Amino acid sequence: MPVVDLNRCEGKDACVAVCPYDVFEVRKIDPSDYRDLSFVGKIKSYVHGGMVAYTPHADQCRACGLCVKACPERAIKLVKI
Ligand code: SF4
Repeated sequence: MPVVDLNRCEGKDACVAVCPYDVFEVRKIDPSDYRDLSFVGKIKSYVHGGMVAYTPHADQCRACGLCVKACPERAIKLVKI
């Protein structure tokens, strides 16, 4: 399944566009996730309007790797569950 590094993600939608299984959703960062960001991550979040990618349908992932290659911020990695 994909794991998004919210300190790197800038909510640019590349993962949403490329995933054949609609795993991703880009939306405003949850307050609890915002609190956990690094100092630099908070600054980036402010600059990009607080938009990040979440994986509400991670169970649909087929580990094709397209999102990992597409992400311009290198914010996604695949992990085994
Ligand atoms: S690895 Fe493939 S199926 Fe899984 S989230 Fe990324 S693009 Fe979607």
